[in-house]
Amino acid sequence: MFPPPTRRRLRVTGIVQGVGFRPFVYTLASDARLGGFVGNDTDGVFIEIEGDDETLDRFVADVERQAPPAARIQRIAAEAITPLGDTSFRIVASHHAATGTALVSPDLRTCDDCLAELDDPSDRRSGYPFINCTNCGPRFTITERTPYDRPDTTMAPFAMCNACLAEYEDPADRRFHAQPNACPNCGPVVSAIPPAPDPINDARARIAAGEIVAIKGLGGFHLACDATSDRAVALLRERKGRVDKPFAVMVADLSTAAAIVEIDADEARLLESRERPIVLLRRRGDTAIADLVAPGNGHIGVMLPYTPLHHLLLEAEDCWVMTSGNVSEEPIVTANDEALNRLDGLADAFVVHDRDIHVPCDDSVIRILDGAEYPIRRSRGYAPFPVPLPFDIAPILATGGELKATFCLAAGHDGFMSQHIGDMENLETLDAFTRAVDHFVDLFRIEPEAIATDQHPGYLSTKWADRSPLPTVKVQHHHAHIASVMAEHGTTERVVGFAFDGTGYGTDATVWGGEVLIADYERFDRAGHLSPVLLPGGDAAVRHPGKMALSHLDSAGVPWSDDLPPVASLSGAERSLLATQLKRGINTVPTTSMGRLFDAVSALAGVRQTATYEAQAAIELEALVDLAEGGSYEFGLVEGDGPVVIDPGPVLTSIVDELRDDVAPGVIAARFHAAVAAMIVEMAERIRTRTGIATVGLSGGVFQNVTLTHAAADALGKKGFAVLVHRLVPPNDGGLALGQAVIAATRR
Ligand SMILES: [Zn+2]
Ligand SMILES: [Zn+2]
Repeated sequence: MFPPPTRRRLRVTGIVQGVGFRPFVYTLASDARLGGFVGNDTDGVFIEIEGDDETLDRFVADVERQAPPAARIQRIAAEAITPLGDTSFRIVASHHAATGTALVSPDLRTCDDCLAELDDPSDRRSGYPFINCTNCGPRFTITERTPYDRPDTTMAPFAMCNACLAEYEDPADRRFHAQPNACPNCGPVVSAIPPAPDPINDARARIAAGEIVAIKGLGGFHLACDATSDRAVALLRERKGRVDKPFAVMVADLSTAAAIVEIDADEARLLESRERPIVLLRRRGDTAIADLVAPGNGHIGVMLPYTPLHHLLLEAEDCWVMTSGNVSEEPIVTANDEALNRLDGLADAFVVHDRDIHVPCDDSVIRILDGAEYPIRRSRGYAPFPVPLPFDIAPILATGGELKATFCLAAGHDGFMSQHIGDMENLETLDAFTRAVDHFVDLFRIEPEAIATDQHPGYLSTKWADRSPLPTVKVQHHHAHIASVMAEHGTTERVVGFAFDGTGYGTDATVWGGEVLIADYERFDRAGHLSPVLLPGGDAAVRHPGKMALSHLDSAGVPWSDDLPPVASLSGAERSLLATQLKRGINTVPTTSMGRLFDAVSALAGVRQTATYEAQAAIELEALVDLAEGGSYEFGLVEGDGPVVIDPGPVLTSIVDELRDDVAPGVIAARFHAAVAAMIVEMAERIRTRTGIATVGLSGGVFQNVTLTHAAADALGKKGFAVLVHRLVPPNDGGLALGQAVIAATRR
């Protein structure tokens, strides 16, 4: 007795294209002797399957359980349909419908199977820099349109040879329908400029000799040099015009990494993960790495090779600076002719290839906080996988902020966060932003009905939105930060949000940045803020932590005496000019910025008086923290009719006293971090007593400081608070767009 056959139509959504999903389904169905077919369309994968009920149930469970390693299933929807008597299973052509949202896989690091072939002299792809399979290789950066098929990628011009085509068409082969499939006979080739018969060895020799080589990677060009050579790194800094901002390094393998930085098990896992981000790791004292790679920084950004070309270029013990190939903060360069133009004068030679990069994508930067990922920059390896939203929303585009710009195109339950675009301070970045938005709209078939932007009238992204015919929703900067950490945790209750950053436009047109908000997605109340001080020279104050310290001292009533490092760093003339400026309020704007308070304390402790990149003074202060120190300072909390005013005056007075008692900067740094964490807990407790709210969100660029974030989260947890820290998007402005999208969608 055979049970009557039944037939089901399945729809699988998630990352199911370009990851070997159809061959996987084919094999599973054929092994179970089921009839039907599988194919790709603009929504994901469709399957029809016919057989007895029990086998079908098992098949559906296996699809979910045994999915290929690079796949990420969001949902499997099933419906019963009329049986057709199908007894064999096949893969059918893709459907190109005009609607539907297929997810696009992020780029995937070279898998171990491919690496084994790469190293095998008898393999036909031995040493071939573009080896890949259904489990690895380029995806997002080569995809021009969806559904993801070879003609819709930058692999379209390469016709597969017979051997490659046979693999591509063989359901039993691990390259079955691997869209970027290629070999030395038919695929892309690497070449050197100036020409060299062996581009890889030529590049290695140049780097060993202290030269700078531009290398075309997955999402753009890198500039590479020997990270152990002071001279080479100094040359790169000089040519790039980059004074102190840290460079990331790529090392051949984990053991080479372990020689320069400390790595725990979570960090090792992240370094070796499929995403292969730059991981920020604590530097060892005895490393061979040049000090100029990350001057004054306690951490070094380290990544492992993620393309076959990187694996061929870097040999054991190699440690290379690998920094985005761009001019200062402009977008990463992707095209060969553009590289030769714009990187000319930066690089001594170029390693290029003829596979186009359709989507520029910088490396991601992640650190580990309390055993889990804490994103600093979410880009290659992560984008464009959507962030799940706490509720369904109508199609909307959120344009993000100004620095570290990303946008969010959202609809339904998906928030598609873009890759890192760059600092939106020039037209090149604005152009890159516009192109990326157009690409996302096209790729995910989401037509936004409104645009959410920051309230800052000067942001290029806000002006861009204002020029669009779509209605705009203006979202306060710090509210967006808090909504973003809420959204990624799916929180729908009100929270107490600490939004600490450098700069954000306040509702009173002053510069906010030390904000305590009681917030949900609809609105916020400003429950507290740092007491305002004057920002001398407006935004230019960012480059002068010393001047910021003097403004803070002035406001705390501490005289500017010569024994204090920031006072000593200024000439008499500069001081009197600054005094007049502060007294009369000339070219100043009030700020409640926590970032600027960190700057002021860094200057006061003698760490840094002028900064050459954003947050440098705070980063160097954090690097000095004496971990054995248990003391703290105390903020004043001034209650009145309005928000609680958080007065840093007592903290600054204590620091000045301790400086005069010759207390070490590392101790001062530790006590200051402890004081900020203690103030967070005290504010949260007062608000809980008044409102009953026991969930706290920590967001804003200041929380890139893991010493502070760990201390605050830990202390809050011990007091019984539920603590939300970022895990999917960065706490800095790179995560802003997510919050803007959910707030604007809620208000509409
Ligand atoms: Zn592979
Ligand atoms: Zn071939």
